[in-house]
Amino acid sequence: MNIEQLLEENQVLKNGHFLLSSGLHSAKYFEKFRILENPALVEFFAGLIKEHFKEKNIHIVCGPTTGGVIIAYEVARQLGVKCIFAETKKEEPGRVIRRGFLIPDGARILVVDDVLTTGNSISETLNALRSFSGIVVGIGVFIDRSEHKLEFSFNDKNLDVFACYKTSIKNYTPEECPLCKAGITLEVPGRGGK
Ligand SMILES: [Zn+2]
Repeated sequence: MNIEQLLEENQVLKNGHFLLSSGLHSAKYFEKFRILENPALVEFFAGLIKEHFKEKNIHIVCGPTTGGVIIAYEVARQLGVKCIFAETKKEEPGRVIRRGFLIPDGARILVVDDVLTTGNSISETLNALRSFSGIVVGIGVFIDRSEHKLEFSFNDKNLDVFACYKTSIKNYTPEECPLCKAGITLEVPGRGGK
């Protein structure tokens, strides 16, 4: 299966001028909900993550809201383990594990997410997990579009970051964005339809 072809066929990859959730601008956008709305596609991508981490003795899969919840659920289902999620805080930045989720001491945790761009959601999820005594053993994402290689650590250990599809795409601050300078209309993904 050619993953790039799969992304094109399902209108995941879009070209234009986009405002990313990080506040940066880019000429390319991955519409992750074209994957997340399709259980067969989620099953396929989650299967690649499961294959990569299946020997790692994972006990819990954790993802950040919103897309990460769906992915954590499917990877956990395939591994036959528990799924939890890290949600945003109401009044301040960062994420928190709520809902009475229990993480036993020493539990081995796999963190998953949809699209890796700046690494912010993953970093917030790792921070939320640091208040428990589980151990994060790796990170799995559907798409890694980070401009530079991102590194994450937990308990002073560098984490294995696995991506089903990886591509490096330049992002711009609004001030330096050449697409803004060229007067191309900025699209805000996810706010288009009703
Ligand atoms: Zn721009």
